[in-house]
Amino acid sequence: MSFEFFSNKGKFFKGNLHGHSNHSDGKLAPEEVCKAYIEKGYNFISITDHFLEMFNYPITSPELNIKNFTVIPGAELHTSKMENGELWHVLALGLNDKFAPPNQPNFLINKKSENIANLSLRLYEAGAFVSLTHPEWNGMTLHDTLKIKKAHAIEIYNHSCAIECDRGSGVAVLDQILNHGKELNIIATDDSHFHIEDAFGGWVMVKSEINSEEALLEALKNGHYYSSQGPDFKNIKVQNGRLEVLCSPVEKIIVSGYGSASIYREKSAMESAVFNLGLLPQKKWLRVTIIDEEGNRAWTNPIYDY
Ligand SMILES: [Zn+2]
Ligand SMILES: [Zn+2]
Repeated sequence: MSFEFFSNKGKFFKGNLHGHSNHSDGKLAPEEVCKAYIEKGYNFISITDHFLEMFNYPITSPELNIKNFTVIPGAELHTSKMENGELWHVLALGLNDKFAPPNQPNFLINKKSENIANLSLRLYEAGAFVSLTHPEWNGMTLHDTLKIKKAHAIEIYNHSCAIECDRGSGVAVLDQILNHGKELNIIATDDSHFHIEDAFGGWVMVKSEINSEEALLEALKNGHYYSSQGPDFKNIKVQNGRLEVLCSPVEKIIVSGYGSASIYREKSAMESAVFNLGLLPQKKWLRVTIIDEEGNRAWTNPIYDY
């Protein structure tokens, strides 16, 4: 991963990667979910219904044929169980309906379901974009995540978990994973169900030449995107030990790295900042966070070579 994709050809497409319809426990029909996101200016979504036998293992992919709006077929898969005895939740985007179920009948623990190491590897090898979900909500530990050999991302923000129980963050688990030496990207999502106002709070901005399922998935897998609750990154350049951030007006720009390392600037309506990376002594990884005057954040994926 590098930040060079900011200078690539193409534009940023806005998408929600995690949400539910009435094909599982969401309120709205898939077409209504799409309509809600289209009205809010999104360019694509994935409807990731719970991949359980009780819902007939759905991979929701409505045939919409709406110009300039893409639905990536996907699902939130489950299997038993994490170290605290809870069910695993794993997002997989770009999944086709031939994917063999992991023998998970419902939301209860099933001793005979597939183990997470197998399931996550099968998803990755099937060509899906694989992400761990809401680590703070279900108490995922670093040790849990080490069972997963191949994944693309983890949720740094899950909007419905933030609203319902103030457990929407993934920062602590993410940074432990990075400190452990594993490379992993991040996503912000809604996990919308539409029973309450749980949509439009966290999204990704994906850089791509075209808005198609294949192009978006490719860009997601390559990490050519950032995650946001509001503010936007315009460009990031790393050169000769300096990191330059250009963004929409924000109050804070933070560069975080290994352990407790971080540097930041604070100023009203700031649209750029330059950092001396010599101030981050352990050159293992870094990521950038911006925070606007309403407290909304945007996050880059981590980079490792700088
Ligand atoms: Zn979930
Ligand atoms: Zn969900």
